[in-house]
Amino acid sequence: MALYHGPVCRFCRREGQKLFLKGDRCFTERCSFERRAYAPGQHGQKRGKLSEFGQQLREKQKVRRVYGLTEKTMRNTFEKASADRGITPDVFFRKLEQRLDNVVYRMGFARSRTEARQIVRHNHILVNGKRVNIPSAAVDTGDLVAVSEKSRTMPVFTLAADLFSKRAAIRWLDVDHKGLTGKVTAVPTREDIHLNVKERMIVELYSK
Ligand code: SF4
Repeated sequence: MALYHGPVCRFCRREGQKLFLKGDRCFTERCSFERRAYAPGQHGQKRGKLSEFGQQLREKQKVRRVYGLTEKTMRNTFEKASADRGITPDVFFRKLEQRLDNVVYRMGFARSRTEARQIVRHNHILVNGKRVNIPSAAVDTGDLVAVSEKSRTMPVFTLAADLFSKRAAIRWLDVDHKGLTGKVTAVPTREDIHLNVKERMIVELYSK
């Protein structure tokens, strides 16, 4: 299935929490969730109790929306996490966080993960001095991520820097904002991801 490119505020309303999918708008009163904190659609305000499967599905969709993944990518990542050593949900979130598009977003070079994905795809990012245009490429501890020299004057990076000042610092990244470079200094853990999600339910769903 192809990636979804339609309106995204409805996802926050569906999941009942802000997922921060639209960059600066998420921090203003124009945020749709601030104005209508109920599910979209005609019956959005009368949502009944969800079945166990329904709850598992919602938790999984929340993560999928936040990281902007297709179902296939999400499941593949989960399967790789289950095959790796360690606690599956922890490994799963670590793999999601170490994706290049996510790292570019976390470093504050993009206002949203969608924008980060586009920046990577359009060849603006170097990893350890080499151009990488694969959003899912894994970035490891010690890797250097930088905006290519030719792209540094693009307005998108100035806009992203403004927004970055509103975000909390990321423990596992060391970023030089003026130079548009950053280093991965540690492995991200579940505690670093401030996302209200019950990972146990995702494990149950994918283990069926
Ligand atoms: Fe969600 Fe951001 Fe839209 Fe608000 S503005 S509903 S946080 S995507």
